[in-house]
Amino acid sequence: MRLSNMLISTLREVPGEAEIISHQLMLRAGLIRKSATGIYTFMPTGVRVLRNVENIVREEMNEAGAQELSASALIPASLWQESGRWDAYGPEMFRLKDRNGRDFCLGPTHEEIFTDLARSEIKSYKQLPLNLYQIQMKYRDERRPRFGVMRSREFLMKDAYSFDKDSEGLDKSYDKMHEAYSKIFTRCGLEFSAVEADSGAIGGSSSAEFMVKSDSGEDEIAFCSKCSYAANTEKATSQLSEKSSEAEKELIKVETPDVKTIEELEKFFNTDSKKFAKTLIFKAGEQVIGVMVRGDRTLNETKLTNAIEGNFELEMADEATVLEVTGAEVGFAGPIGLKVDLLFVDEEVVSMKNFIVGANETGYHYDNVNYGRDFEGTIGDFRTVVEGDCCPKCGAPINIRRGVEVGHIFKLGTKYSSAMGANYLDENGKEQPLVMGCYGIGVNRTVAAIIEQHYDENGITWPMEIAPYKVIVMPANMKNEEQVAVSEKLYNELKANRIEVLLDDRNERVGVKFKDLDLIGIPMRITVGKKVTEGMVEFKLRTGNDIEEVTIENAVERIKAELEKNNIRF
Ligand code: ATP
Ligand code: MG
Repeated sequence: MRLSNMLISTLREVPGEAEIISHQLMLRAGLIRKSATGIYTFMPTGVRVLRNVENIVREEMNEAGAQELSASALIPASLWQESGRWDAYGPEMFRLKDRNGRDFCLGPTHEEIFTDLARSEIKSYKQLPLNLYQIQMKYRDERRPRFGVMRSREFLMKDAYSFDKDSEGLDKSYDKMHEAYSKIFTRCGLEFSAVEADSGAIGGSSSAEFMVKSDSGEDEIAFCSKCSYAANTEKATSQLSEKSSEAEKELIKVETPDVKTIEELEKFFNTDSKKFAKTLIFKAGEQVIGVMVRGDRTLNETKLTNAIEGNFELEMADEATVLEVTGAEVGFAGPIGLKVDLLFVDEEVVSMKNFIVGANETGYHYDNVNYGRDFEGTIGDFRTVVEGDCCPKCGAPINIRRGVEVGHIFKLGTKYSSAMGANYLDENGKEQPLVMGCYGIGVNRTVAAIIEQHYDENGITWPMEIAPYKVIVMPANMKNEEQVAVSEKLYNELKANRIEVLLDDRNERVGVKFKDLDLIGIPMRITVGKKVTEGMVEFKLRTGNDIEEVTIENAVERIKAELEKNNIRF
């Protein structure tokens, strides 16, 4: 491609709306343009990058034995009603009607479509196992679209669905996908780890997220400092410290005027927040829920949501509801005499002795409270793990790091096949539900994640396989006929070798040209300058400082050697 013919949309300034580096660089390098909140156009170079990632995904999925198909993004409501998710999915789903008033949605994910397909196409165990995938746009009306294509409302996803006879089969299919994902993200040049994850709205028994380490990631991951334990903090748990052996003291009510927050309580009681248990009040649809965690802890809302049955949006209770269930102002809630539909108690609170809670009476707290003797509830894990907690596997301290979720694999089991009647006939001619797995990769989020790990002060430093073009040939002076002629010759030779090459034939100062190309991140550059009279040109890697002099004859070989070193076919 000749740069003189190309739409180049580089920006010198950092766009104000872009908070994170990948978003800034995608805008500055002209890879994307925003068309509305959370909706982007991929520009010519952006598309090439996207296709490169997509092709890696496609190759590794095919290699793992999965088969590509392509379903519509437009899905009739009837399928979602069958699975029960038409009501459960909530405001993230883009819903629309056709001219006859029938309900449709723009698919946020495709479990229903693939389960429907499987129930009509799969008849017998002989057709199993099967893994079907597509790479296609998904639509989610995100509560907070942000960070450019990291969290957009339309995004390219590779979604795959596996069908097996039984759970052993599913384990194998899942492991295969785990392996394929590792290959994909390695080829994308990413430093990543697979971590235990919450299964969320999609449901199912076990799942792992592929997390790219990055300070701008929206997820928090708990890593053990010693063993291999790693989990999203939505799911991560910690070992409890030994149950206190302190003798139970007599319950006392203490007057605590205007003492509401944990900080105020710490001062008033002259003790630290670990001696308190806080009681938080939520609304989950019609139900009012109380949940207790230790005073210094943050409640894990994902864990709480998972513990409650039914479809609802969890929200903090308003003041009126708090007054109704506690009989007190906000700040004095406690478990004794609390009138909630359900009370959940974090297991850590159960192991505490003689702690302080609100007395459900404005201006009062109870001290020397003990679980079992003074109140009871449903015990579970409702706390958010923090740095320094003990690893649930080995007890060593946990570290917390930020990450970007680029892929997610789930064992669904028979959740969808049972709901939708997707069965097969087993060896004995008996009907059995298909055992399913599902596997997603955010293709454009992966592009952004690659940039988060590959940039410098001048712009993007694409891994070779991802780069939109591999080489740029640049005459230093467009007015010098010999430089231009040699550049044209090298450009044509590289093209003849099917190497993705650019020719910078713009009448710009060389400094301007270098700036653009460094920003876009073309990995190799051939500069045809003054030394062309001696038969020499310059070769430079985007990520290195060295400028190598090579002969005109050897220039193409030098580039091929670099591509081979990076396992790039051409
Ligand atoms: P998140 O927790 O980030 O919202 P998710 O758990 O909703 O992600 P999945 O339903 O598992 O995501 O979707 C599979 C993959 O699609 C994710 O791993 C992620 O890479 C990508 N993805 C999800 N939502 C978006 C989005 N709004 N924009 C871009 N990519 C997304
Ligand atoms: Mg989401």
